[in-house]
Order: sequence, then structure tokens, then C-alpha cells
Amino acid sequence: MNHDSLKIPQATAKRLPLYYRFIQNLHSSGKQRVSSAELSEAVKVDSATIRRDFSYFGALGKKGYGYNVSYLLSFFRKTLDQDEVTNVALIGVGNLGTAFLNYNFMKNNNTKIQVAFDVDQEKVGTVIGDVPIYHLDDLEKILKVKDVPVAILTVPSAAAQRITDRLASCSIKGVLNFTPARLNVPTSIRVHHIDLAVELQSLVYFLKHYPEAVDEKSE
Ligand code: ATP
Repeated sequence: MNHDSLKIPQATAKRLPLYYRFIQNLHSSGKQRVSSAELSEAVKVDSATIRRDFSYFGALGKKGYGYNVSYLLSFFRKTLDQDEVTNVALIGVGNLGTAFLNYNFMKNNNTKIQVAFDVDQEKVGTVIGDVPIYHLDDLEKILKVKDVPVAILTVPSAAAQRITDRLASCSIKGVLNFTPARLNVPTSIRVHHIDLAVELQSLVYFLKHYPEAVDEKSE
């Protein structure tokens, strides 16, 4: 993100990709303006939150007009650095890792998995979804010559911290952690944690105990 966006609250920043995806769809369908009510309905964020979020980046909708779609699109593209591809490394080419290698992240955002690492000799040296798989022993050597600021961790949780320590000594600035392990990192690194099993369990719990659906994003 560029420096202007640093003033945006983190909760707002987290919603930017969501807004961006929807605005992209609107733009490709030829729509020129959108109201906060329409946006709210589509992205399931209440319209007061949308108006507050948008006020941070100077997009002031006019009553009865809404927001200009082209303006929003160029703002989001710039803020999310969408004109530049961000390279990503994936560590752990198991079931989940393999699915990510085959998934086209470029479809919706400008991130691309460039390299993958594993310790399994059967996987090392192969290519999945155009992505070459190297041995973890070569992690530092490969990352040194590639511009890769982000890593996805899909290894067994027991291996996660040690690998993260090594990533921290490379150029990695952000880790998307799909392992259940809670990672310790220096302040120079940001970790986002996605535990699919916990998310699923939490959904099941909410279905049981809060049967009246309230979308979490609108809270
Ligand atoms: P699979 O069926 O291929 O084993 P999985 O997702 O069920 O997939 P996991 O045991 O979670 O298997 O391992 C995920 C991947 O991480 C595997 O490809 C494994 O070889 C790899 N792996 C295990 N330990 C390490 C490590 N220390 N560094 C890098 N990769 C590792």
C-alpha cells in the first residue's frame, strides 16, 4: 500500500479488497455510479460503515448520486498497488498448498505465487500450476535472488515456527499462516492467520447458538 493509505484505520484497510472486487465488477458491467445502499447490499457491510470508510479516502458520495465508479476503481487500484504484481512464496506443497498452486490468484488480485518449497523429494523439482518446487534447504538462496515479500505457510504446524524464523531472515514482510501454530515474529513482519478448521467450527457453533443470521462483516 502507498503511504497515504497508512492513515486509514486497519478495520477499513481490511475491507478495501472486498470493495475493490465489487467495484471492478461494476466497472466491467459498464456502471458509472453506485450508491452506498447498493454497495452495502452487495458486500454485506452496513452503509454507515461504507460511508465512513469511503470518507477516509476522500471519496465523498453525493446525495442522490452516490459514488463515481471510475474514481473508486482508480483509487482502489492505486491504494492496493494493483498496478504492480506482488510475488508470493508457498511453503508446504501438501493438499492445501497444491490447491493454492493451482488457483489463479491473478483472476481477482495482483498476487502471484512464484516459487514453492517442500522437503519431500518426490515433490522437489516438479512444477505445479506453473510454479517450480524447490527444496526447503534452498529457501534463503532462492529468496535472495527473487523479489518475494509474502509467504503462504501450508506446512504441518510443528514446522511452522522454524520456517517462519528463516523467512524473517529473508526479504519476507508478510506471512499468511494456514497452520494452527501461533507464530512469533519480529515487528518487521506481519502475520495473518487463517485456521480453516477453527473457522468451520466457529460457523457450526454460531449456527447452533445464534440461529438468527447476522453477517459478521456488518458488525
Ligand atoms: P499431503 O497429503 O501431501 O501429506 P497434507 O496437507 O495432508 O498433504 P501435511 O502433513 O500438512 O500434509 O504437509 C503439508 C506439506 O508440507 C507436505 O507436502 C509436506 O511434505 C510438507 N512439509 C512437511 N514438513 C515440512 C518442512 N519442514 N518444510 C517444508 N515443507 C514441509
